Amino acid sequence: MNTTKINIAKKELNQNGFLDIELDPTLDLFAEIERLKKEKNAVILAHYYQEPDIQDVADYIGDSLGLAQRAEKTEAAMIVFAGVHFMAETAKILNPGKKVLIPDLNAGCSLSDSCPPALFKKFKEEHPDHVVVSYINCSAGIKALSDVICTSSNAKAVVESFPKDQPIIFAPDRNLGAYLNKTIGRNMVLWNGSCIVHEIFSLEKITRLKVRHPKAKLIAHPECEEAILRFADFIGSTTGLLKYTQSDSAQEFIVATETGILHQMMKASPQKTFIPAPPDNSCACNDCPHMKRNTLEKIYLCMEYELPEIVMEEELRLKAKKPIDRMMEISRMAGL
Ligand code: SF4
Repeated sequence: MNTTKINIAKKELNQNGFLDIELDPTLDLFAEIERLKKEKNAVILAHYYQEPDIQDVADYIGDSLGLAQRAEKTEAAMIVFAGVHFMAETAKILNPGKKVLIPDLNAGCSLSDSCPPALFKKFKEEHPDHVVVSYINCSAGIKALSDVICTSSNAKAVVESFPKDQPIIFAPDRNLGAYLNKTIGRNMVLWNGSCIVHEIFSLEKITRLKVRHPKAKLIAHPECEEAILRFADFIGSTTGLLKYTQSDSAQEFIVATETGILHQMMKASPQKTFIPAPPDNSCACNDCPHMKRNTLEKIYLCMEYELPEIVMEEELRLKAKKPIDRMMEISRMAGL
């Protein structure tokens, strides 16, 4: 491995956004990643939607809120973000002096992509009296146009921090926005964005599953469509869903969110059964294709060669940081 290291470090990333280097198949990637963590004072932050092997090498696994909080606190010199681009970008916004790496630069997000900053800026100008609450699943450009950021864990507290009569734009997820409007009695203007994974579930197939597993509880992420949420026994953020499966007495759960979370659910409650909610076709579409671009091999390579790295203009970073700081403060005050 070491003989090729210098050349590879200078090498450009391939056009797919990651280091495309063949590895010796006998290499113990788990041990190598542990070695690199120590050598480089690195921490691996992984989202719950990552594949099980990545979750097992991570120092911290969480949802967007937990990951942002952990990124804010870490003392490591290097953050390896096993998630998608907007998450690594958030870590960089909070840690300008640290090296933030992402195993695959092209690990994007359909929800974030559904809200381009130039279009959103025009939309915002059409609603001059409104404040902007943006879900964290958006680019730094959208964050910079927002008054406050939220995650699914703190969205209610963030929206409720504004007086009832304050007009609000909620972006980019229309399903989470509609869920909030309904549950906390708001009339926010919604940007018409959505997540490809959370819109794929089939109510018909879930109904059939419920017939076969009458005691199973349907638990769903609020990014799911209204028809699924109406049918759910519990709605919550990824962390909220995980905690619910630990505390609730049910032994079977149908899980309507990305399948990666099932690894932690099974680890936390090995005696319980977890069934991924079926998509409306036969593909594995409830696996997020963006999250699943990351692999153990890519994590090892990005740590070894310190590429791809997240870089950002300071002016944009400072504008994007303000609404994140405001979210962190509201979360702290709400005890989240
Ligand atoms: S699951 Fe949806 S919201 Fe999450 S990263 Fe994938 S596309 Fe984006």
